[in-house]
Amino acid sequence: MNSPDPAAENTAPRDACASNDACARLQAFAFPPQLLAILRTLGDAGFEAYVVGGSVRDILLGRAPQDFDVATSARAEQVTRLFRRVVPTGLKHGTVLVLKGGFKTEVTTFRGEGDYLDGRHPESVVFLNEVQGDLARRDFTINAMAYDPVRRRFVDPFGGQVDLDKRVVRCVGTALERFSEDGLRPLRAVRFATALDFDIDPATMAAIAPTLSTFDKVSLERQRDEFVKLLASAHPARGLELLDQSRILPRLLPALAALGEAALREAIARLDRLVAHAPDADLALRLAALLSDLAPDDLMGRVETKSPAALLLRHLRLSNAEIDATLRLIARRGFARSTLETDADLRRALSCVGPDIARPLLSLAIAHGTPIDAAHALARRVDALLATRPPLSTADLALDGNRVGALLGQPKGPAIGRALKLLLDAVLEDPARNTPEALAEILRRHREDLS
Ligand code: ATP
Ligand code: MG
Repeated sequence: MNSPDPAAENTAPRDACASNDACARLQAFAFPPQLLAILRTLGDAGFEAYVVGGSVRDILLGRAPQDFDVATSARAEQVTRLFRRVVPTGLKHGTVLVLKGGFKTEVTTFRGEGDYLDGRHPESVVFLNEVQGDLARRDFTINAMAYDPVRRRFVDPFGGQVDLDKRVVRCVGTALERFSEDGLRPLRAVRFATALDFDIDPATMAAIAPTLSTFDKVSLERQRDEFVKLLASAHPARGLELLDQSRILPRLLPALAALGEAALREAIARLDRLVAHAPDADLALRLAALLSDLAPDDLMGRVETKSPAALLLRHLRLSNAEIDATLRLIARRGFARSTLETDADLRRALSCVGPDIARPLLSLAIAHGTPIDAAHALARRVDALLATRPPLSTADLALDGNRVGALLGQPKGPAIGRALKLLLDAVLEDPARNTPEALAEILRRHREDLS
């Protein structure tokens, strides 16, 4: 067995890493000096202190950890007394943020949890003196390891290392119980399996469907955070397949599931084609590829803000900026299929969709099945055209609204808007006309139609 016996670890602290390949990674890892200083301060004061959770997992996987969480036997008040700069971010849960230099890390007292009565939050928090109990309340074995880089002690009571080697996501303890306690965990299982490209252990997978009523009680913000991480991963289409297989999908994205099997398969395939061609696609673009069938395609018209896509995005508590960006991409997805024969056609289309989203729209077109060569040819045309900095909006015109008003002899009113629109049409047709003189001449010719 690779995993140390928790009881033995308790009574005889030892270097569990000595002859282990994976642990050599932990020993060789360059932990930030400020983090080491924080751990030393806690250790010198007589407390246990470990790096826990995601960062230990990531180091063992050879990935760069995003941040480091510290778990300690010190209570929050004791931690607060030991450091000069702390922020009491979650005192009730034993968490304080410790700041050192430009570095910050959350330090949390070892804790176990009482009963979960509402499927979301433990009813009570119990603080503990040993790390094992703290690891036991964590969700998956790969997230339930601790390492103390000062004393070089590695604690892995649930076989996290073995599961990392086997590439499986497995609940700590009984999956049915763990999923009934906190309904977010099934979605987290799918998220980690997707992000790490792991399988979900069969017993863990089988426990998802029977506990889904608990998932519904989880706040939409927590659901959103996991879903966004799933979508941002390298192979999000696999994540959607797993959501479908585990039956989470109809609860997380009801409108997408309601489209039926064929449309769902196609939506997932679109997302897959998108990231295959644009691995750096942002959240809005990924959402647009997935949810295209939930809003109409309208290149010239207004962006529909009451479509099923809009309702779903709002339901998921995404930000207004994310929602607007996604809806704009969905509405303008026909860009590459519109008439773009001449440069004037292309300028008109760019003026309409906004030049900033031309590139994302071409990636979206590939997701929708536009041949890659055609999309690339169009991308080259767009780049060449934008390099000439053509006027594409009324703000780019050589005459502003005030000058137009003065020339028309009407300082205010709808006629000015009509005039600007007319001038924009003229310069989209021929950008050389964008001089004050040429525009004034156009206004003179159309004076009667405009008043
Ligand atoms: P990431 O790198 O994506 O942030 P992470 O493992 O750090 O991954 P977090 O959501 O930041 O994930 O949580 C930190 C740790 O807290 C986890 O590794 C896990 O040990 C524990 N944890 C988080 N959420 C839960 C939960 N719902 N139930 C049990 N343990 C959890
Ligand atoms: Mg984290």
